[in-house]
Amino acid sequence: MQVLETVEAMRAFAAARGPSAFVPTMGFLHEGHLALMRAARAHAPVVVASVFVNPTQFGPNEDFERYPRDTAGDLEKCRSAGCDAVFLPPVSAMYPPGHRTHVSVSELTGPLCGASRPGHFDGVTTVVLKLLNIVGCRAALFGEKDYQQLAVIRRMALDLDLPVQIIGHPIVREADGLAMSSRNVYLSPRDRAGALCLSRGLEAAAQAFGAGERDPRVLEATARALIDATPGAAVDYVEVRDALDLTAVEAPLTRPVVLALAVRFGATRLIDNRVLASG
Ligand code: AMP
Repeated sequence: MQVLETVEAMRAFAAARGPSAFVPTMGFLHEGHLALMRAARAHAPVVVASVFVNPTQFGPNEDFERYPRDTAGDLEKCRSAGCDAVFLPPVSAMYPPGHRTHVSVSELTGPLCGASRPGHFDGVTTVVLKLLNIVGCRAALFGEKDYQQLAVIRRMALDLDLPVQIIGHPIVREADGLAMSSRNVYLSPRDRAGALCLSRGLEAAAQAFGAGERDPRVLEATARALIDATPGAAVDYVEVRDALDLTAVEAPLTRPVVLALAVRFGATRLIDNRVLASG
């Protein structure tokens, strides 16, 4: 496995080895990331991952400085997941002095995480477009855990005619249902237990949907009740939206929707979601 730290080295690898399947990450890797890397093998003979904590997608009061990092452990995990190369650029390689260009997807980035993290998705789309251009992949894999991010990146790829297939991967969960996240390490034992209110809230709403409930406000309230009953949990949002374009929806639901939620435990913000579709 090659570890490439400059744009030039990454491009040289791509030129020598041909189009790859690519998994961008911010590191502190867990099984969710590794599942994407293993799945990547089905999309190209060469698998490339990147580990880059992208400063432009963090707000001024967010956790960029304290975001967990473990480069040696990450490289070992990438090796075990079968990556052929890892792109590991320093911030200065991605944002050299004078950098002025940003990519911004409108509408889709307004609600949900976009409402509580202004500028976040511009940072994401800008760095993802740069990474796709540098890595030269033919497919890129993203987790459905970051549902809005996946929708925004799909839109960007369509709108900008990127020659890259964007592939979504199902959410990987801990045995008890908590969606895996690098940020789970921040949770105190009490909050780790309380964090189950996200997956349980989604499950309760899915049960109601399965039983025929088609009022999005009732589905939201069903999930929210479990979160509100959890000590230390503060709702950022609990929203049912159109599964494809994330627009607001009203009763009665007729098309597939996503129930998306974000919950804070102290300074730690967790997200999860579930698609609700009949038949
Ligand atoms: P991150 O390092 O958090 O930026 O995540 C890198 C990629 O891994 C993104 O496409 C995420 O959606 C994906 N990912 C993170 N956690 C999970 C998970 N639990 N299940 C599936 N994909 C995940």
